[in-house]
Amino acid sequence: MKDVLVIGAGGVSSVAVHKMAKNPDLFGKITLASRRQFKCDAIAASVKQRFGADIDTAQVDADDVDAMVRLIEKVKPALVVNLALPYQDLPIMDACLKAGVHYLDTANYEPRDEAKFEYSWQWAYQERFKEAGLMALLGSGFDPGVTSVFAAYLKKHHLDTIDTLDILDCNGGDHGQHFATNFNPEINIREITAPARHYENGEWIETPALSTRQVYNFEEVGTKNMYLMYHEELESLAKHIPGIKRIRFWMTFGDQYLRYLDVLQNVGMTRIDPVMYNGVEIIPLQFLKAVLPEPSDLGQTTKGKTNIGDIATGTKDGKAKTVRIYNVCDHEAAFEETGNQAVSYTTGVPAMIGAALMLNGTWKGEGVFNMEQLDPDPFMDMLNQHGLPWQVRELAEPLRF
Ligand code: NDP
Repeated sequence: MKDVLVIGAGGVSSVAVHKMAKNPDLFGKITLASRRQFKCDAIAASVKQRFGADIDTAQVDADDVDAMVRLIEKVKPALVVNLALPYQDLPIMDACLKAGVHYLDTANYEPRDEAKFEYSWQWAYQERFKEAGLMALLGSGFDPGVTSVFAAYLKKHHLDTIDTLDILDCNGGDHGQHFATNFNPEINIREITAPARHYENGEWIETPALSTRQVYNFEEVGTKNMYLMYHEELESLAKHIPGIKRIRFWMTFGDQYLRYLDVLQNVGMTRIDPVMYNGVEIIPLQFLKAVLPEPSDLGQTTKGKTNIGDIATGTKDGKAKTVRIYNVCDHEAAFEETGNQAVSYTTGVPAMIGAALMLNGTWKGEGVFNMEQLDPDPFMDMLNQHGLPWQVRELAEPLRF
């Protein structure tokens, strides 16, 4: 049974659904449901036009567990792919448990009223999924997702031990807008304005947001400023790579983006606590999201490439070794194929691959899993086959910072 129910109809979902429909050998019936059905219908029309495939659409508020259960019981999928927002992770996991289906997502749970994202809430479902004989796969996007599988692949094939891991996320694309985010603006800005945190010698070290900058020359993109940030896969990789001494996450930002962000922060537009406006409570960041460009509309104008990957140092056969592994994705090529830019593409394709591996039983288990806990090889092969080819090479020396 390869029927799938996808929740959420943003850029990431659009890519995943296009790729699922493009691969009828991997997926059975595809049903797409979201808060507003017209968004699902627009994706369905694009899928029909591009690949001649039909998908079903539906409306659902995924915060409503009973409504989700009713939808799952009607559609009867083997797997629910959650590509809505992190806020919906727990209600959708609850619905999967009640209805007895497997679960996959791309981002970990975050409470709405606190810019705090961590796996504890979802790891707490371990026993319930195990007892139900179900699998929940967490973080099947690019980062987390591919970068986590890259680490597992390096550990399996290139290094006996990993001492340090740096994840480098570069978007060298230009969308031609004054200020826009490449995925959901609310989630994106909450993530970037949170304090940076990295793991070193068993401890979490916190530094002010965007206060540590380094320069890196990204293959096929060029030299960019990148900033130390906290990212959720650090938490699971610190747990699942035994003996690791340091893990850091870096993301590139242009000067103009940071200038706008600074102003928006200083005037209070990124606040997530309610303020009264004309007698109505509004959350400034949610209002800001409403006036910013929709990430799913950026594809038309975005040019350039993303380069996301890992650098791991460790030992092989007793000798020190540093390995670089990365993918380069072209915004215009991603748009040509799916109607979406590369940030949505690099997340939607791994979601499709994770779903395919669960549906055909290559990746199976009972309980809650992070990506690095599973065999990386079939996933790495599928990245090459489905539009996200990767390169791996040994570096002469480790990073000097
Ligand atoms: P979008 O905001 O474009 O899309 C989210 C979709 O979820 C929208 O269609 C929205 O509906 C829908 N939605 C929101 N609330 C509900 C609800 N209560 N019930 C049903 N549907 C709902 O986001 P993206 O496509 O950019 O991102 C999707 C997910 O992917 C996010 O969780 C994001 O954090 C994650 N992500 C992960 C990455 C990774 O590498 N791991 C990278 C980038 C993103 P509506 O259209 O009506 O607003």
